[in-house]
Amino acid sequence: MRPDHLATLIEKDLADGATPTMVCATIGTTSTTAIDPVRRIGEICAERGVWLHVDAAYAGVAAVCDELRWVNNGVAEFADSYVTDPHKWLLTNFDCTVLWVADRVPLIEALSILPEYLRNAATESGEVIDYRDWQIPLGRRFRALKLWAVLRWYGAEGLREHIRTGVALADELAGWVRAHEDFALLEHHPFGLVCFRPLWRDLSDQDAATATLLERLNDSGDVYLSHTKVGGHMTLRVAIGAPATTREHVRSAWQRIEAECRAVRDEV
Ligand SMILES: *Cc1c(COP(=O)(O)O)cnc(C)c1O
Repeated sequence: MRPDHLATLIEKDLADGATPTMVCATIGTTSTTAIDPVRRIGEICAERGVWLHVDAAYAGVAAVCDELRWVNNGVAEFADSYVTDPHKWLLTNFDCTVLWVADRVPLIEALSILPEYLRNAATESGEVIDYRDWQIPLGRRFRALKLWAVLRWYGAEGLREHIRTGVALADELAGWVRAHEDFALLEHHPFGLVCFRPLWRDLSDQDAATATLLERLNDSGDVYLSHTKVGGHMTLRVAIGAPATTREHVRSAWQRIEAECRAVRDEV
């Protein structure tokens, strides 16, 4: 998100008589793990009284590591709400999303209902938090229990080790891609995702060749990659983050990609 463009759009909405209500910034986009400038966006939202939500679904959990705490820069000062998903990169089975709000009052004012049959002494004492007032449904599963078990089992150091392993493997893969003259690497890879594409120098339809490569790799059953578009080009995504993934897996995945790429090149 470009803060200057955001400010322009907000001004335009106001001029048109509309009330900008919420801005959603992303820390680690799904496509490429891009990171929005949350602090600058937050300053713009704060000036105009716009709610700032921060979607850190995948990348937020990286902040368990001291050296990656920068990912959440600006959140504590400017975000009104923030989510991250332990079910993505923090070893917790689907589904488990963590929601943080700077001030719970607006949320409760919007969502709470208190019919007679829900009245009780604990609520009236003000000493308990009724999470039913934080969401649309009344009932909810006890998802916090499995997260608690994950935290207890791995411990803070275990979780850090998991994140660090993923980041280091992604970094190593990026190094191999960068060193290969037939591939273009997306240099932004702070987490466990690495995006790159083959350079089919003499081909007019680069994306079609990349699509063929992807299809053949995935059909082989040896690796499973997804793709996205970066700068108009079809780009491969290698996501590293499973607890059983080792350096050997990443190494052989890269060798497999490289070999299949050569095979496609010989044919097209
Ligand atoms: C995965 C992802 C989502 C969707 O998250 P769920 O909680 O699984 O629905 C939203 N935003 C981003 C940036 C994501 O990476």
